[in-house]
Amino acid sequence: MRKQTDLDHGPGPTIRPLALNVVAGGAGFIGSHLCRALLEKGESVLCLDNLQTSRASNLRALEGHPRFRFMRHDISQPLPAELTRMAPRITRVWNLACAASPPLYQQNPEHTMMTNVVGTNHLLHLAEAAKARFLLTSTSEVYGDPEIHPQAEDYRGHVSCTGPRACYDEGKRAAEALAFDYGRAGRTQVRVARIFNTYGPNMDPNDGRVVSNLICQALRGDELTIYGDGSQTRSFCYVSDMVAGLMALMEADIDGSDPVNLGNPDEMTVNELLGHVLALTGTAARVVHRPLPVDDPRRRRPDISRANEVLGWAPKVPLAEGLEATCAWFAAELAAAKPAAAG
Ligand code: UDP
Repeated sequence: MRKQTDLDHGPGPTIRPLALNVVAGGAGFIGSHLCRALLEKGESVLCLDNLQTSRASNLRALEGHPRFRFMRHDISQPLPAELTRMAPRITRVWNLACAASPPLYQQNPEHTMMTNVVGTNHLLHLAEAAKARFLLTSTSEVYGDPEIHPQAEDYRGHVSCTGPRACYDEGKRAAEALAFDYGRAGRTQVRVARIFNTYGPNMDPNDGRVVSNLICQALRGDELTIYGDGSQTRSFCYVSDMVAGLMALMEADIDGSDPVNLGNPDEMTVNELLGHVLALTGTAARVVHRPLPVDDPRRRRPDISRANEVLGWAPKVPLAEGLEATCAWFAAELAAAKPAAAG
């Protein structure tokens, strides 16, 4: 009799016997929510992650799940033979693997570029061998510092290929090009999501994003850092909405030759976001201004008409609700980290 492994599927009417998802970057912020949602749907998940900027603790609740397995691997390196041997069972390949916070993806720009280009190619090869559908999480950063507002998918962007953000922006643009070439050649079915700013539980408190920084600074009573004058805008999407959009896109029976924006069109200035955080936490901490990072986009808001049309998707969680849940999660995280830091 064949040996039971932790990837074998248990019985039950909701479990499709061959629904094995490879989720690269599955220990990350969005990836960990996606892994959980796929398991809740009755599917199996093999999470690949190098734990560079993601956290094993994001997967704590999934450890020991009979349809979940974690494999530590950096996708810029050739995929493990064990994984390629599983190809006949793989039905979906999700690429969420890359540092996404500007200070972190700029720490090792060569690795960021290789993760996006070489890593995406490794996963596309796997999807092709598996005859699996492939989804790339691309980014609003492909629009750079946009001259068109809001940004629709047919806007080709205003990106610096020489600046410090290029390793990520241009890396993702190259990853898109690769994915669409595989799709055009009929080598694998592709889906490309352009993700706009997303927030929620499982964000790394130290990754330097504006939502995590401001909430953690407020909770710790540290100075709140605003880069520039805070008049730049972003549009923030709660993570459960993002995961719902990604899953809808992967499963949609659409022509995958077009990218799809996923994000919340509720645009605000960084100062307005600060106002929400101040009201929510009641902090008396001081606000300090720091220089605006090089190439920091002035404004960003997704046009989500395509997602609406082809997926019937729109975000549902209002900012106040999402921020409250995020704040509660960070408060628990920081409280749990305290005894360890003291000990
Ligand atoms: N930002 C800020 N304070 C911080 C971190 C970021 O004012 O502590 C600004 C940053 O310059 C940018 C916006 O907030 O204009 C969003 O930054 P984030 O790093 O979250 O995302 P991205 O720049 O990739 O959209």
